[in-house]
Amino acid sequence: MQRILVTGGAGFLGSHLCERLVEQGHDVLCLDNFFTGSKRNISHLLGHPSFELMRHDVTFPLYVEVDGIYNLACPASPVHYQHDPVQTTKTSVHGAINMLGLAKRLDARILQASTSEVYGDPEVHPQKENYWGRVNPIGIRSCYDEGKRCAETLFFDYFRQHKLDIKVVRIFNTYGPRMHPNDGRVVSNFVVQALRGEDITIYGDGSQTRSFCYVDDLIDAMQGMMSTERGFTGPINIGNPGEFSMLELAEKVLSLVGGRSKLTYMPLPHDDPRQRQPDIELAREKLGWEPRVSLDDGLKETIAYFRRLLQDAA
Ligand code: NAD
Ligand code: UDP
Ligand code: UDP
Repeated sequence: MQRILVTGGAGFLGSHLCERLVEQGHDVLCLDNFFTGSKRNISHLLGHPSFELMRHDVTFPLYVEVDGIYNLACPASPVHYQHDPVQTTKTSVHGAINMLGLAKRLDARILQASTSEVYGDPEVHPQKENYWGRVNPIGIRSCYDEGKRCAETLFFDYFRQHKLDIKVVRIFNTYGPRMHPNDGRVVSNFVVQALRGEDITIYGDGSQTRSFCYVDDLIDAMQGMMSTERGFTGPINIGNPGEFSMLELAEKVLSLVGGRSKLTYMPLPHDDPRQRQPDIELAREKLGWEPRVSLDDGLKETIAYFRRLLQDAA
């Protein structure tokens, strides 16, 4: 049993991770400022003797005693991270400094939730970890992309300079229950639109691609990475290599939900990457991991979740 800090623990991925850690018998400190996370996501854990919730912003120093840290705090959807872009960069950069300072004082292992966005709009396909990326430093996505890139830099400098026990995972698009219904991400948008019988909003011509990983698979990989030997730092890609265009995704969602939604076309956001697919050879080799849940099965779970959420809200 270990004491584990999960920053961003009331968010989509963080809440699944907290749940898993509590189930495994760890003592979990869930830290969140509730910008995009919610108590609802972790309400079933409140009251559990191994679970503790703390309202705190990672841009401020934190003095606690733990054995391991998962640093997930950061809004993840373009709508949310562009709402207050300065705060987004601060969360990634000051948040990383504070959590690394904490890890250094405690000599605790620390994992950073980085992102496929560090590859920007890639000219290499699929993306391997040794690709340096093509990121606009001054665009509307930069607060997130460059913030996460700088956080990676900090992690590797703390590793080189202070011999910290770091782990960096680059997460590709992940979906599942407890995604925020209004986060503007494509899976939540399409599912909610289909359930409400509203038109499905395709940005651009819908030919751009993404690879979607189901949350349970993702948590397996994150924990797998946290258990690798000291000195294996990553970065390591985790995601599902199955690649789909947004039109294909819309058709899948429509066929699973049924209903009368039609497709409607809207302008493509600035700097929207054309394509994205992880190369997961390193994860296969080092973690013995690969995703198991198909897009169809994962979407069914996600649709069931949003159906309940919309019913509860009605
Ligand atoms: P999310 O928005 O559901 O979760 C982020 C959590 O961090 C929220 O609970 C939010 O309230 C909290 N938070 C934000 N700023 C904070 C701050 N300054 N201090 C404390 N808490 C703060 O998003 P998610 O999808 O669960 O993403 C979790 C992490 O994984 C993020 O770091 C994100 O960048 C990364 N990631 C996610 C995906 C994905 O597809 N879901 C892909 C790549 C990377
Ligand atoms: N810090 C923290 N908790 C700790 C130790 C450090 O939040 O237990 C923060 C503190 O704000 C500090 C930052 O982490 O400025 C970086 O710490 P480090 O020891 O690397 O550098 P310092 O600025 O203290 O020299
Ligand atoms: N997208 C879309 N309709 C929507 C929301 C998003 O067509 O209602 C597109 C978006 O332009 C992008 C893709 O879906 O090409 C994935 O968007 P998301 O915000 O989920 O993730 P990211 O762009 O950060 O990978």
